[in-house]
Amino acid sequence: MILRMRLMACVWMFLLLGTSAHAVITLDGDFDHGSLDEANSSVAGNLVLLAGRDNFNPGQWKWLYFSADGVNGLQPTFRIGDNFNTGGSSLNDHEMVYSYDQENWFFFDNNVRSSGAGTFTFSNNTVFTQDRVWVAYGLPYPAARTVSHTAELVSSPWVSPTASGNSSLVIGQSPGGIDDLGRTIAPQDMYGYKISDPTGAAVKKKIALIGGVHSNETLGNYTLEGLVDFLVSDDFEAALLRKYADFYVYPLANPDGRRAGYNRSTVQRVNEDPNRHWVPPNYDGLDDIEVVGDALIADTGADVDYLLDFHSTVNDTFANHHGLLLPAYQSDPMWLNFKSLEPNVITGGASLIDDTGAKFGRDHLNAEFSATFETRFLPGENIDRFLSMGRNFGLAFKQTFVVSLDLNFDGQLNSLDWNLFLAGSETDLSTLSPIDAYSAGDLNGDGFNDLFDFGIFKTEYIQVHGLSGFEALFKQVPEPNSIFFTSFVLGSLLLLRIPRRSHPI
Ligand SMILES: [Zn+2]
Repeated sequence: MILRMRLMACVWMFLLLGTSAHAVITLDGDFDHGSLDEANSSVAGNLVLLAGRDNFNPGQWKWLYFSADGVNGLQPTFRIGDNFNTGGSSLNDHEMVYSYDQENWFFFDNNVRSSGAGTFTFSNNTVFTQDRVWVAYGLPYPAARTVSHTAELVSSPWVSPTASGNSSLVIGQSPGGIDDLGRTIAPQDMYGYKISDPTGAAVKKKIALIGGVHSNETLGNYTLEGLVDFLVSDDFEAALLRKYADFYVYPLANPDGRRAGYNRSTVQRVNEDPNRHWVPPNYDGLDDIEVVGDALIADTGADVDYLLDFHSTVNDTFANHHGLLLPAYQSDPMWLNFKSLEPNVITGGASLIDDTGAKFGRDHLNAEFSATFETRFLPGENIDRFLSMGRNFGLAFKQTFVVSLDLNFDGQLNSLDWNLFLAGSETDLSTLSPIDAYSAGDLNGDGFNDLFDFGIFKTEYIQVHGLSGFEALFKQVPEPNSIFFTSFVLGSLLLLRIPRRSHPI
C-alpha cells in the first residue's frame, strides 16, 4: 500500500513537473534585429509582462521584437507599458504581429491600449500551435534579409557592381561596436549595386535608392525590396524601364543598428540620428553613412535625376504613407504617376534644412527630385502590401520615362522608330524576348508584327505628330525593302480605314 502511494506520488510529481516544464514561457530578444529588455520582463503563468527597450530614448520603448518559447497550446496575454517613444497615443489602433518562422507574419487578434492603466495588451483568440513564436511591434526586416536578398541579385543579368563595389556587391564595411546591452556587434558588409540594361538608351536617367538609414524602419526596406524585385524582373514593363533608366541601390545604410535591434541610431553613434549627418567628406564621423554617401557620389558621378530614401514612421501627423517633398517636387511627373497608382499616399512637405539623405541627394548628387518616403505600420497591411507599393514606384518611373512606340529607345518617337517597325513588319517574332519583339514592332505582344501592330503604330503616331507627320514617314522611306513591303503598307492603309481597336501597351 505504501509502495503504491509512493508510486502514485511519483506519477503526480512527474506530471506536475512535466506540465510545469512545458508551461514556462521563456523570452529571448538576443538575435538579429531582436529588441527586448529581458531583465525587466517577466512571465506569470499565461501573462507575459514585457519591458521595452529604446537605445535612443532611454526609459521609453520603440522597436520590440522577441521570441517566446514554450507557448504551444497556450493562449498567453502579452502586456507592455505605453511609454512608447512617440507617446502612448501612437499605440492607439496599433496591432502587434507574430510569426512561427520569421517570414510569414500575422496580426494579433486583440490589441488594447489603456491610457488609464498605461498599458498596451495583446493576445489571440486561439492557442499557439507551435512551441516557439516570434512577436514584434511591426513587420521585422533583419539585417540578414538584406544579405540574402542581395546575394540573390548577384546572378541577375541586370545587376552589376557599382564603381565602389566588388563582385559580391559589397561597397564597404560598417564600423560595428558595442551596443547599449554591452554586446559586440561585428562589422558587417554593406551593399550597393546598379540595375541596368546596358543595351538601353545612350543617355539614361539615373535614380538613387537608399534604405535602412533608421534601424527600426523596416517597412522602408520592404518597399525598396519590392521596387528592386520589379526592376530585375522579367516583367515587360520592367524591361522597358531598364532601357531608359539605371538604378543605384543601397539597401541597408545602417546594418549595425538593424542587427542590434536599435531604434533609429547606429551602434557607432548611439546618441545621433544618422539621418542628420549626410555631410561629406566626414559625415560627422558616422562611418555607415560615409560608406553609402561616398559610394553614391563615386558611383553616380555625383549626378542623379532622382533620389528616394525609404523610411517608415509612427508619426501621426499623416494618417497614411507619405512622401516628404519640397514644394518644387510635388508636381513631379513620377510622383504624380505614383500617386495615381497609390491614391491613399499623402504628399507631405519638406524644407531640406536638416542634413538628411534627401538633402544630400539635392545638394551633393544634384538630383532634380530628392525625397524621403515614409511608410506607416498600419493594421492589416502586411509584407505583400509594401512589396507591391515598391512595384508601383517602378511602374511610376516606367510611366514617366518610357516614350510610347520609341522602338530604338532613344527617348523620341520619330522616323527611326518607323524604320525599325518596317524592318520587322510581317514577321513572326515569337521566339524573341518580349522587349526585343517590341523593338521589332510587336506592339500588342502577340508575337507578330502584323496589321494590328500597324494600326497601333499609325494611331499613336498620328496622336503625337498628326496625320501629316505620319504621311511624311512614307516620303522619307529611302528604299522599301521589297515590292511586297510597299503593298503591305498600302494595303494596311486601306484596311485601316475600318476602325480597329488598338492595344497600346
Ligand atoms: Zn526614418
